[in-house]
This record gives sequence, C-alpha cells and structure tokens, in this order.
Amino acid sequence: MQGLMMEMPLLISSILQHAARHHGDTEVVSRRIEGDIHRYTYLDCERRARRLADALTKSGVAMGDRVATLAWNGYRHMELYYAVGGMGAVIHTINPRLHPEQIAWIVNHAGDRHLAFDITFLPIVEAIAPLCPGVESWIAMIDPDRQPVSDKIGSLVNFERLLKSGSPDWVWPEFDERSAVGLCYTSGTTGNPKGALYSHRSSVLHAFGAALPDAMGASARDVILPVVPMFHVNAWGLPYVAPLVGAKLVFPGAQLDGASIYELFETEKVTYSAGVPTVWLGLLAHVKQKGARFSTLERTVIGGSACPPAMIRTFRDDYGVDVIHAWGMTEMSPLGTLARLQNRHLDLPPEQQQKILEKQGHVIFGVDMKIVNDEGEALAWDGSSLGDLLVRGPWVVREYFKGEGGDPLRYDAQGRGWFPTGDVATIDPQGYMQITDRSKDVIKSGGEWISSIDLENLAIAHPAVANAAVIGVPHPKWDERPLLIVVKRAGVELTRDELLKFYEGKVAKWWLPDDVQFVDSIPLGATGKILKTRLREQFADYRLPGL
Ligand code: AMP
Repeated sequence: MQGLMMEMPLLISSILQHAARHHGDTEVVSRRIEGDIHRYTYLDCERRARRLADALTKSGVAMGDRVATLAWNGYRHMELYYAVGGMGAVIHTINPRLHPEQIAWIVNHAGDRHLAFDITFLPIVEAIAPLCPGVESWIAMIDPDRQPVSDKIGSLVNFERLLKSGSPDWVWPEFDERSAVGLCYTSGTTGNPKGALYSHRSSVLHAFGAALPDAMGASARDVILPVVPMFHVNAWGLPYVAPLVGAKLVFPGAQLDGASIYELFETEKVTYSAGVPTVWLGLLAHVKQKGARFSTLERTVIGGSACPPAMIRTFRDDYGVDVIHAWGMTEMSPLGTLARLQNRHLDLPPEQQQKILEKQGHVIFGVDMKIVNDEGEALAWDGSSLGDLLVRGPWVVREYFKGEGGDPLRYDAQGRGWFPTGDVATIDPQGYMQITDRSKDVIKSGGEWISSIDLENLAIAHPAVANAAVIGVPHPKWDERPLLIVVKRAGVELTRDELLKFYEGKVAKWWLPDDVQFVDSIPLGATGKILKTRLREQFADYRLPGL
C-alpha cells in the first residue's frame, strides 16, 4: 500500500522560491570584484535567477547541459546556482586553484557548454579557451562597463547583458527530483579528477540535514558568511541552507584575508561562518594583532582538514565563539559528521568537553558509517579500534560522473553499497568518529588536494632519479605540505634545487614539494607498491626547513 501524500519533487528551485515568498526582504550581501559592497534581497535574487534561466534557455541550454563557473562567493554565482540548477541543467563549479591544464581537462571531461567566470580568472580563461572547443560562450561576471576584451577568447559574453535578455515571467519547471543539479570534481583520489554529480533530491535532503540544530544548525536569526568557496562542494551547502531557513547571507568575494573577513563580520553582524582551518589562522592573527573582539559571531564550522585543538580553544576561551568541527567529502555533498556536545556532556569539565569537540564528530541523520578491517569486517565502536571508514546515505555518491574509476562501492552481506572514504578512523561508544590517518594517496594543503602520485611520476621522469615517493608532513599553517623522498640513480649528481626546478611550469606553484630528502632505498610492499605508512613512520620526526 502506498502513502497518499502529494508527490512534490524535492527541487532546489523550491528553496529559493520559499526564501523569496517567506523571507523576501532578507538580504544577500556581497563584496564584489568591482570593489564595492552589493546588497539586495532574496526576492531580487529569485527574480534575477529566473531571468537568467530564461536567458540561458534562449541561448540553447537544455536539461542536463553543463554550465561551469570559475568564481568567488558572490550574488551572481548564487544566481547561477539557482538558474542553471532550477532549469534542470547542471552547475559545474570549478576550483580555480588547479593548474590550467587540469582545469581544461575537467571542462572537457564535464562537457561544459558555457563557462561563467569572475574576471580575476581571465588569465585562466585565456589559457584554457583554445583547449576547450566544446565551450560555446565564456560569460564574464562583471558590470557591462567593466567587460574585458580578449582576442584569445572566441565568444566572450557579459553576464548582465545576458541576464537582461531573459524574461522575469519565466516560471520554474517541475521535473524528476533525481535529475542532476551540480557537478564538482575532486582530485582527492588517485588518477584523474573525478566528478561527484549531485541530484536535486540529494542537495535538498543535504540542506535539510545540514540545517539541523546539531549539524551546522541555521535559522532565520542567523547572518551566515561562508568563507568556504562555492567551488568547494557548494560552500558546504550554505547557498542552499541559508535561503531554506531564511538566514541573511554575506558573500566575501575575492578578499579572504583576515582584515577583510573581520570587517564584514562586524559591519554585517555575522553570527555564523564556515571555512577550512587555514583561513581562520589569518583571521585570528588579525584579531589578536588589533586587540579586536567579535561583536556578533557566535559559531563557526571548521572542516575540510583536521581543526587544530588550539584553534578550538582560542575561539572559545579568548573570543566566546563555538567551533563546530566537521568532517565530510566532495563525495558526501559534503557533510558527514560534526562534533557537538550532547545533553550528557554539559556537566563535564571543560577539558573533557574539549576532547569531544576535537573529534570529527557524530553523524547527521541521513548518513550511516562504519569502520572495517582489511577483510571488510565491521570493527567495534570502542574508541580505539582503527579501521577504514565507510559511509552510505542519500547524499553520498554511488558512482563518479561518466563511471570514471569504475564502481567505487564496497558491498556488505546484504548487498548494500558503502562508499570507502579513504580515511582511517576510530568510533567511540557514543558514536563520535575520530580520523587518525588517511589511506588514500593524497596530501591536503590549506584545504586543497595535492596528488602525491603526480608529483612522484614527475620526479621519476627526471633522468637522475631511480625512485621517488611523496608524503605529507605537518605544517602549522597549511596543515600538510609535500615532502619528496628520492633514491638517486647510481653515479649521478642531483641536488634538491635542481629537482625542485624540474617541477616548475609542470604543476601549480603551491604543489611544489617543500623539501627533498635523499635516501638509499624506499620501502616497498610485496606487490612492489611504496609502503607509505612505513615511510611516514620513518619520517615521523622530520621537520620542514624553517619550522
Ligand atoms: P574533500 O573532498 O576535498 O572535501 O576532502 C575530503 C577529505 O578531507 C576527507 O576524506 C578527509 O581526508 C579530509 N577531511 C575533511 N574534513 C576533515 C576533518 N575535519 N578532519 C580531518 N580530515 C578531514
């Protein structure tokens, strides 16, 4: 017997429609590339998103087509999220920090038909345009009087002029909630970057889950400033969460330094923010140097990399701001777990509470997790058994875009698929998960991935290198930095600087290893694979130069 309730598809357009109808005068504030502060309301945002959707339809964008962005957090980016997704096309947010060749690869793999960009990224667009013949138009997100000209880009369109060609009478369509809405590539896996393709259903459910009080928690009393970029897993869902609950939104644009963020916190009365640990170092340094206080900031979500315990303490003890340590992945839309106290913890001494808050946390309803051993057997939640962390849920990927990398799931005795996160964790008897290591071969620096395998392959291409391995080593600002470990070919000379120079132009600058260590041999496993765990043990006491 089926239930007899309405079949109303869960579509992201309904979130913005809700905000326009019920929180129509709530503000969306943006620091613009143009240099000023732009402010309008959810009502304006929804109207412009509809006009944009109509304009895109007129330029031939159809259901399922991919429209890419290379853009900061701002109102035009938000309009693209809703216009493109709401019309049934797919918004593909690209990380501009990747090497241009990698960006071109991603654009072509995604089959992007249009690409909208903040003019900060004009040099990237000029570099990739000749490599991306499938892109029909390049849309500059800037006022018409600042429209750039470039003889390197075929069809260069202005965002505002495009939007004006659309009608405000356009109506949001209804379609299958399982339709794709967003595409986000991750380079946090081996091989080529892989696309996580979110559906309307998964995005709306994720936004509901994220807004729960013990998750990120958001309400119409909040003013939310996402420092986490909209090209990092949809700014952790905040462009959907804020209009869903009717919170005021503040977009920081390109200026992510401590002083600029602090200024927006104060002038816009921000209560709530979110970002990777590295950005908060800059903010805390600024506030400390100025002897300033946060007048309205109540809490901030910190994730993407492990949040240093001292940061949680400083925010709480020195500034009265709660840190919500969160863990998730691109493949999980991204939220999985968050560290919040429960009723039973409220009378604990602060030091014991701090220990709980340092963990990656408790799952939100919707996500299930388990830790398993090498044989795939579930391990005890005793706080000390270490295992591979697997997850499942309606906002977790079941496969990557275009089937890249094959079936990623592991199946249990009931045939249910679980996504292997590549993280190694413990889970305590109260269900709090703590990450202890990573089994995937990648390094996370300032919240961005560096492929150790790409760096190794490049080193091995050097004629004087017999073997090479790259591991992540701790860094106080960037969390991890790459260390290159090299076995030289017999009888040849090779210096650290020669080898580092060899990388120049081949990878993004921030991928360059911070140091090179020459060794006689690299530990290998039975199948000839480099034993990274052994190497990490071997270099456990190593410190990067200058630290
Ligand atoms: P991404 O897909 O770029 O969001 O990266 C997801 C990965 O980042 C996870 O699988 C972890 O390896 C790492 N990560 C994310 N959040 C945390 C956290 N709070 N603590 C430790 N590692 C984290």
